[in-house]
Amino acid sequence: MLRTHTAGEIRISDNGKIVTLCGWVQTVRDKGALIWIDLRDRYGVTQLFIEESKADKEMLKLVRTLGREFVIKATGTVGERKAKNEKIATGDVEVLVEKLELLNASKLPPFTIEDETDGGDDIRMKYRYLDLRRNPVRNALILRHKLAQEIRKYMDSKDFLEVETPVLIKSTPEGARDFVVPSRMHPGEFYALPQSPQTFKQLLMVSGFDRYFQIVKCFRDEDLRADRQPEFTQIDCEMSFIEQEDILNMFEGLIVHLFKQTKSIDLGTFPRMTYADAARLYGSDKPDTRFGMEFVPLKVKKENIDLVSGKDFAVFDAAETVLGICAKGCANYTRKQMDELTEWLKRPQIGAKGLIYARIEEDGSVKSSVDKFYNQDDLQKWAKAMKAEKGDLLLIVSGDDNKARKFLSELRLEMGTRLGLRDRSKFSVLWVVDFPAFEHNEEDGRWYAMHHPFTSPKPEDIHLLDTDLGEVRANAYDMVINGVEIGGGSIRIHDRELQAKMFGILGFSPEEARKQFGFLMDAFEYGAPPHGGLAFGFDRLCSLFGGVDSIRDFIAFPKNNAGKDVMIDSPSTINEAQLKELGINVR
Ligand code: ASP
Repeated sequence: MLRTHTAGEIRISDNGKIVTLCGWVQTVRDKGALIWIDLRDRYGVTQLFIEESKADKEMLKLVRTLGREFVIKATGTVGERKAKNEKIATGDVEVLVEKLELLNASKLPPFTIEDETDGGDDIRMKYRYLDLRRNPVRNALILRHKLAQEIRKYMDSKDFLEVETPVLIKSTPEGARDFVVPSRMHPGEFYALPQSPQTFKQLLMVSGFDRYFQIVKCFRDEDLRADRQPEFTQIDCEMSFIEQEDILNMFEGLIVHLFKQTKSIDLGTFPRMTYADAARLYGSDKPDTRFGMEFVPLKVKKENIDLVSGKDFAVFDAAETVLGICAKGCANYTRKQMDELTEWLKRPQIGAKGLIYARIEEDGSVKSSVDKFYNQDDLQKWAKAMKAEKGDLLLIVSGDDNKARKFLSELRLEMGTRLGLRDRSKFSVLWVVDFPAFEHNEEDGRWYAMHHPFTSPKPEDIHLLDTDLGEVRANAYDMVINGVEIGGGSIRIHDRELQAKMFGILGFSPEEARKQFGFLMDAFEYGAPPHGGLAFGFDRLCSLFGGVDSIRDFIAFPKNNAGKDVMIDSPSTINEAQLKELGINVR
């Protein structure tokens, strides 16, 4: 080995030892008589020290040519530093250099290799190999590695087998578009890249593997959204001879294990919430439960609640739903702040028509933006329903039920942020269960599987398959942490007839179903065990553990928001000969 130590491991107990270090020049401080170099490698930074009067000429010459990111090898004696640096583990020591070797020079990097860099996103992505030298990015990948190891440990301890499934396959319906790969050997035919290993893991259950997992790349050609990667990693899992309860317990155990091992946090047991309750209380199937601020109905037709109609306020009279949240201590919001909040809610990204508000004054009276229509008695009723106290602010939206809930959900999150209730060091975990099996698409008038077509309806709802698809609930569940869907899955259909029926409901003709999923239906005729599973988004999980929103820093070589890798310049065109060989005619 070229070195005896790394740049992160020398301590005061090594005083007097001769050591050799290799690494990159972080900084050179040349004060003439004394020269210091900060030497960096993956493990840390060690200060090198050179005294002009004692160093030989050759070495001095070399030192004075060194620039940032040059790669050097230095041998010298460990000594105690005069000015200690408490911020780094090697801060008590320095190495008095006796021999210095240049291993490689470096061009001036296009951005500073510091924790806080001057490099913008684009340049960092173009020179990702330099970006990866920075502590925060490297630490993110170290965290990812640790989590992956802990996942494997837990899964192995529970008898799960890690099995690889193919990447060149055919379509799996997870609701996104497939990436396809043309086949040279079979002109005009294509492979699809897996959106998930869903069908393969189910086949492994038919094969008797019983407990499977895989940390696996998945590919989805979805419309671009901030921080969404066309290829991403799942922790994909499946089990046989289980019920929903077993899956919830097993994978709650996994997340508890990860928090314990990497954060020393005990999460306890995860609460469960039905999809219906999540929609009712938070207007979201992934509520951020770090804070309350639950929805209070002022008018909900299907629940026969109405505290607002019949007072000549046309907006509320016409609305299907009127809901509010109570923002504690916000009665002092100025007119300007309220206008700004209203505008925020009306942005096209959210699209609300407006915001009604009411303040609970110091004397207990309620002042609202709709005082024209509602008297003190009416408003006091609202305040009571919302358990509001002096100094609170009521924020109220209306509209058709879905929209009102969506608007208020956004507003609730925004108020949570403004009030500092979404602390990154706090973790609030829950299972959302009993998802509807189907959703109706207004545009094409068709029913779609809310999870995927292999998800089993709840046995007690199966009779509704013939009468009321909207009311059928599925044995499907999501794990939500701090308002982020971290994982989700379902108990699967393992009965051929039911699976065939499901495809029919979802608009597949028997021929289409046969063509696309015949293999699975065939497998179900050879003793398919009851089974179910789930998948976690590994990149997202890493970013949650890392306490940042962006998943990109937890991926060594990510794509940018336009789905491009600007470092290797991909996607890119291929040449005529390749196209011809693949039988593709693009002109
Ligand atoms: N394959 C599903 C997904 O990617 C997860 C599962 O149902 O296990 O969301």
